[in-house]
Parts: sequence; C-alpha cells; structure tokens
Amino acid sequence: MASTESPNYVQKTTPKSGESLFYTCSLPKAALIFEDSSFPAPQVTDDWVADYCEAYAECNEEERELWNDLCCSIPPSHSLNPMIETGCKEYIDSHPPTSELSPTLQELINAVKIARCNSFTSRNIHPVTSRVNHSCTPNALYLPTPTGCSLRTLKPVQAGEEITISYLGIYLFASNGLRNSILLSEKFFTCQCPRCSSIPNENSVPCEKCHPRISGGLPEDVEFEDAPVNYTVAICPKCNDVLSPAATSLRQKLEEKSTAALRSEENDMDVIREIHEVCSQVLGAKHYSTALTGLTIVDSMCLEFNRVMILGQAPEELELAECVDTLTRIFQFAEGVIEGGGGMMCYSQCLTVARGLGCLGDEKSVAFGKVWAEKAWKFLEGFGEEGEKKVCLKLMEGKVEHMELLEGKGDRETSEKPSKKMRKK
Ligand SMILES: [Zn+2]
Ligand SMILES: [Zn+2]
Repeated sequence: MASTESPNYVQKTTPKSGESLFYTCSLPKAALIFEDSSFPAPQVTDDWVADYCEAYAECNEEERELWNDLCCSIPPSHSLNPMIETGCKEYIDSHPPTSELSPTLQELINAVKIARCNSFTSRNIHPVTSRVNHSCTPNALYLPTPTGCSLRTLKPVQAGEEITISYLGIYLFASNGLRNSILLSEKFFTCQCPRCSSIPNENSVPCEKCHPRISGGLPEDVEFEDAPVNYTVAICPKCNDVLSPAATSLRQKLEEKSTAALRSEENDMDVIREIHEVCSQVLGAKHYSTALTGLTIVDSMCLEFNRVMILGQAPEELELAECVDTLTRIFQFAEGVIEGGGGMMCYSQCLTVARGLGCLGDEKSVAFGKVWAEKAWKFLEGFGEEGEKKVCLKLMEGKVEHMELLEGKGDRETSEKPSKKMRKK
C-alpha cells in the first residue's frame, strides 16, 4: 500500500473537489508519482453490484475503512440507487451473514455506491489513486500494474499543482459536449477544466467556403488531407466564413450516430465502418467522430493481423495499407488534441502495424515499420511495460520478433474503450 506520506504528493481538501492530491515537488515528464495497491479485485461478470459486494466482503477491516473513506457522488435521486439497493439485498439473501465480520446490508449499499464512483476500467478501486481528480488535460497517467496501479507524470509538473488524470479512456479525445455527458452520466459531475471552457478543436470540419463540397461530400484531397485543409468549428480562421446551420446540424447528427454506434453493446463493425466512411467524407479527418470510429476499425484489423502473425504469416498487404492510412490520420488527430496524444491513444496499434510491415519483409516496408515503432516508442519509453519496450526496441532495429514477446501485454486505459457495462475512470 502506498504510504500517505510520500515525498511526491500530499492530500488536501479543497472546497471545489473535496479530497484532492497535489504535487509536493517538481517532476519531469514520465516520472513515477506513486504506486498504489488495489482492493480485492471484483470479478468481471454482468452483475457488478454482486461483484462489488463480494469484493467488499473479502476485504479486511483496515481495507474496509479505506474503502469507506472514499467519496460517493451518486445523486440521491439517481436511478442507480434503487438498483444498487435491490442488488445488495439479493446478495445478502444468497449470502446470509456467517460471522460478525459479514457486512450488513447498509454497509454493502454504501460500499457499492462508493465503488461505482471510484472504480477504474479494470474495475479496481485504489485507496490513493481513487482520490485523484479528473481533468481533460491531465498531467498524470494511470497505469495498471500486477498488484495495483502506478501514476506517472504526462508532462513536467511543479510543486503545488494538483495531480490530475483522465477518467474518460478513449473519450478523452471527444468533444467538450460528449466528454461532459459521459462524466455526468458515469461519474456524476461536470468538468470545469481549462479545455472544457475553451473552444474545442476536436469537432472541427473543413471550411465550406475554402473547400466547397461536391454533392454534399468533401473533395478527396480534402478528405484525406492530401492538400492543406482549413478547419473550422464555427468561424473559419482563414476566410471568416460562418459554418452554415445545415452543416452544423449534419455534424451534430453524425456525432450522435457515431457515439451511439461506438457505445452500443453490439459493437457492430459493419455499422461502424459505414458511419466512419460518412464521417470521413462529410466531417473530415480532424473530427473526433471520424477518429474514434476509425480507431475501432483499426483495432479490429490489428486483432486480425495479430491472429495471422501468431501463425507465422504476414498480414494481407492491401488491408495493412488501409489500416496504416487510417492510423496515420488518427495519430495526427490525437496529436492535435493533446500533446503526445498519438502515442497515448494508439501506441499498441502502432506496434502491431510496425510488426505487420516488418513481416512483409521488403526493404521499403521494413523501413516504414521502423517509423511506426519509433512513434510507439515516444510513448513506451516513459510509460511502457518492460515486455512492450523490448518488442518496440527490436522493431526499431528492424527485427521482427515472434508473438511470444507480445503475449501478456495488457491493454492500457488510454487505448481501451470504457467497459460496456460500467464505464469507469
Ligand atoms: Zn474538462
Ligand atoms: Zn474558410
């Protein structure tokens, strides 16, 4: 367990966000802030209320105290409350108390509510990390470890600054509106970070006047950024043209459609592919709907490439080329949203593409593969696990290693969609 007296951080109560953590010293980028333990990990089944009841029941007294010390921000009138209460009753009915240590119904309800507000993608709750507040321009990164998690700085920080991480997973790259609707429905608050109160660029589209549409769609060189493109959120900075109400409402409709498809339980790739194509043709490469639907497609392609490469075969060349094209645009989009965002968002996809290109074996592909490994390295150097780093270094030398090395590498928060049943920090 992390000690509360670490030289790198201090816990303070603030009027705006309650218990918060602050840096006590200046740190460079990628520095370890602290390591944290995890409460007994709940199982990952569909019944998360029962899973958290079980996890809480397994805690010892000291752990329960730390768990109960965390904050719950579910509003009293929220529909989750009756659902949690019913779930806890069912749990107690099927697990009648056997000793003094068995938690009471009220204790369980309280514990599950706290867990619902404080858990991370892996469903873990951490005694210290769960107190770190959210920002859409976070200065720290949450990294799961075998025994809990660790926090590292994403940029150089100063003593006195608040430690912040993102609760949004991949949706950190979404628009102000989508980010806040997720935070409100999943974490019960509205973000007031500087990015949330500034004009967004995640939902900018090519200016209609600078780039006249052809039968409603973008000319191909604009869609694929083969020529310089002037992007606009509302007013074009180049020509001062105001985005038409029709274009604005079309953008909104596509945003809604792509969000619904990405967050649906089905994860229907055909639907996502269709929406991605329309987003790319209408909204262009710098819009988050194009990027996020694109990333889901790249993900599924990478899964297939890895499946083929495990058998010692090279990926299909045309498919790999398509994947590289899409990934290129996603990477650039992410870099435009957050410095270093490309690696944060898709380092694992960069690695797969690097391996795939290396597998093709011809000189040009191998050289191109090294370029992608270098992109991944920019992130992995500071934040990767040893295994990932080894693979990446080999790929940077142009060596294509076999799959064993990639096995056991866990997906990171940053490249992971929030879980379907319960979207977490
Ligand atoms: Zn924010
Ligand atoms: Zn313009």
